[in-house]
Amino acid sequence: MSRTDRLSDAIDTRRDALTALARDLIRIPTLNPPGDCYRDICDLLAARLADRGFATQLIRATGAPGDSDRYPRWNVIARHEGTRPGDCVHFNGHTDVVEVGQGWTRDPFAAEIDEGRIYGRGACDMKGGLAAAIIAAETFIDTHPDYAGAIEISGTADEESGGYGGVAYLAEQGFFDPARVQHVIIPEPLGTHQICLGHRGGWWAEIETHGEIAHGSMPFLGDCAVRHMGAVLQAFETQLFPALASRHTEMPVIPDGARNATLNINSIHGGLAEFTPDDTSLPAHCVPDSCRITIDRRFLIEEPLDAVRAEITDLLDDLKATRPDFDYTLTELNTVLPSMTDHTAPVVRTVSEAIHRVTGRTAAYVASPGSYDQKHIDRIGKLKNCIAYGPGDLELAHKPDEYIDIDDMLESAKIMGAALQILLLPTEEQGTP
Ligand SMILES: [Zn+2]
Repeated sequence: MSRTDRLSDAIDTRRDALTALARDLIRIPTLNPPGDCYRDICDLLAARLADRGFATQLIRATGAPGDSDRYPRWNVIARHEGTRPGDCVHFNGHTDVVEVGQGWTRDPFAAEIDEGRIYGRGACDMKGGLAAAIIAAETFIDTHPDYAGAIEISGTADEESGGYGGVAYLAEQGFFDPARVQHVIIPEPLGTHQICLGHRGGWWAEIETHGEIAHGSMPFLGDCAVRHMGAVLQAFETQLFPALASRHTEMPVIPDGARNATLNINSIHGGLAEFTPDDTSLPAHCVPDSCRITIDRRFLIEEPLDAVRAEITDLLDDLKATRPDFDYTLTELNTVLPSMTDHTAPVVRTVSEAIHRVTGRTAAYVASPGSYDQKHIDRIGKLKNCIAYGPGDLELAHKPDEYIDIDDMLESAKIMGAALQILLLPTEEQGTP
């Protein structure tokens, strides 16, 4: 029997432990916003990993966006040293989950089991993946106590809101320095035979058009900011959207529609504030002097950020030159640069080989339409050897009745375990793959 098969068998015997760990994590309602219960989940992870010989640290991202005494941004990082020098493999999972939303038929924090699935908010994104990585690491350490190098596991805050109180903060503190960590696997739900190499960029901005308030019965005495915004949207429809749709990336982004550059208009507001549902007032009559939209531009690795910005401002400046009384303000809200790990990077080749050893399947390479914490490991940490790989179906993320399949968790744990064998055991001990 091969070394990989022996480790896989050992992971199979821990099916109940894996299920129990995933359920324990799901039962802690780490909702973000507001960023609740981070300390509770970090305490659970730290206690468990300390019991198994990891050195653990709890780190609060003091001063990060959202951090407060009511909602402190706690993170946990645990490190287990092998018996000899070697590479460090780091598994990073975000502990936060998005709001529950409507449409659930199960209790979102009860972690009910039904037909081999565990249901709950965060089950697939990504507490199931974090549990799988922990079981993989623990089983590897028990099976090969004399391994070379080190294994780290981190549970981090705020990925769903940009990761600034989580991975970005740890990266700024040097935790992802390539001298300290050599390989990073983020067990986000990409499916057990897919390796996610990176993600597109994002540029968020608010555009405001300006007008002049007047009585609604005499709009010619004012200047309607909503009509000016209508001209902006018209220019988007006729010029911008067709241009974006014609631009394709070489990155293997899934789903197919996200292989183009895209733009979403997240919100629009102009004029009188909306009434609350219980307010029975009638509207006052005014020409709106302001209209605002927020835009979400997802850009390709082939598109320079300057060009992304200029494409929008050129369009607005054209309107300013041609449309009477048109004036605007553009406020940039946030930027995320694209990230793409080379498919020949060691962690990619290793996990690809591990997928083949465990399942006999050929790994598929994908990239994510939205960003995840890889951006901080790449840009702040300067560590390029990072992927997302983990169990679950990305399309279930953030949806009602989110679940993780227990068999998927087990399979991905075996693959993560096999990856540890390839990276942290000397080749002479590898035996028949
Ligand atoms: Zn996630």
